[in-house]
Amino acid sequence: MPNSNLHKILKLGNPLLYQKSIEVEPNEVLSLQNEIDLLHNLVLEFRAKYGAGRAIAAPQIGLMKRIICMNTDKRYTIINPVLSELSTEMMELWDDCMCFPNLLVKVKRHQSCVLTFRDENWVEHRWDLKDDLSELIQHEYDHLEGILATQRAVDDRAFRMIDSTASTSGLKHPSILPPTN
Ligand SMILES: [Zn+2]
Repeated sequence: MPNSNLHKILKLGNPLLYQKSIEVEPNEVLSLQNEIDLLHNLVLEFRAKYGAGRAIAAPQIGLMKRIICMNTDKRYTIINPVLSELSTEMMELWDDCMCFPNLLVKVKRHQSCVLTFRDENWVEHRWDLKDDLSELIQHEYDHLEGILATQRAVDDRAFRMIDSTASTSGLKHPSILPPTN
């Protein structure tokens, strides 16, 4: 793929991935637009290469700001997210991450939560999240806190490598393990 930017995604072990990001100021959003566009493009590029990938957090490219770029039915820019009303009910899943594309980690996430955030126009939003979007946003929010899925492993056997040589279609995730993030 020409002009790939995937190398800009920091990999597991990079010290920046373990640092807490800082809040975005309203007057900063315009100056961050290039980075926000890059993040959105990386989600699309990663998905094209690996067959999975719905969101990325700014610290994953070393931008230590509280920004999540998500692409599901369309592009969403989630600025200064706050999680609340985390359910006591938990879900267990095999999590993945653009910082370690061939590794799955079994983690527990809250089944539902409430997300409040600002968008690029500084409009406030409140989303009630459950299931796959709930765990996705918890994963991305963790990045803003400097926490990786590897640190959430349910036990010391909760790791599984994906066999990238077994791929025939470019979709590297085994179908029995639905791709998550
Ligand atoms: Zn991640």
